[in-house]
Amino acid sequence: MRTKIVAGNWKMNNDKNESKALIKHLKKALKNEPLENTRVIVAPTFVNLSSSIKTAKDSKVEVVAQNMHQAKNGAYTGEISAQMLKAIGIKTVILGHSERRTYFNETDASLAEKVDAVLENNLETIFCFGELLEDRKSDTHFAVVESQLKNALFHLEADAWKSVVLAYEPVWAIGTGETASAEQAQEMHAYIRSIIEKQYNKEVADAVSILYGGSVKPANAKEIFSKPDVDGGLIGGAALNVADFTGIINAI
Ligand code: PEP
Repeated sequence: MRTKIVAGNWKMNNDKNESKALIKHLKKALKNEPLENTRVIVAPTFVNLSSSIKTAKDSKVEVVAQNMHQAKNGAYTGEISAQMLKAIGIKTVILGHSERRTYFNETDASLAEKVDAVLENNLETIFCFGELLEDRKSDTHFAVVESQLKNALFHLEADAWKSVVLAYEPVWAIGTGETASAEQAQEMHAYIRSIIEKQYNKEVADAVSILYGGSVKPANAKEIFSKPDVDGGLIGGAALNVADFTGIINAI
């Protein structure tokens, strides 16, 4: 059975105290939830990772990083390496978020290097990708998604996929209030699984958790998560509010 995941990407929100408070609320809300085969993840900013890990200790809440640099160390002012994240207890790193691609010029090629650095350090990645509105309008969304996966992930050995979680996030649905329909999400997730099967095998394709991201809210989460190839969600805005986020967790 594939692992279900609800992951909250806090982006550049929540200072140290706000991060701690949100995790404490979440811990309390999840204390008596069975959460069988389900992971609950939050991604605070770099500067709040250590304190968030401490706050989340011995709970059902996992703390992950939003990004990292691909180099081991060196003259990369303002950057953080996989080793540095690992040293403070981080086990998972989000890579390839559309905001990183758009505002910080991340490319499939640089993301392939980041993925390699994550895996060399025995970390896991939640790898984000998805088409722009113009891609969907011009009916090239399947080709765009295929090329994003091919260029950044298909050089991996089959075994490495045990450390990869995918997050399909159509860019037109991120932070816009516009959600892909459950059918659109299912259609793309099934397609993603089919190209992974073609590149690798059915075992790899069946095992990888594929999250949907893009304006997931408590009101639409249940329908989206009910689709057979949707294994959970990467949540932005709604992850900043404990009632909304726990509503989404309950939907899974
Ligand atoms: C995201 O940033 O990954 C995201 C899905 O944001 P939102 O839920 O706000 O659309």
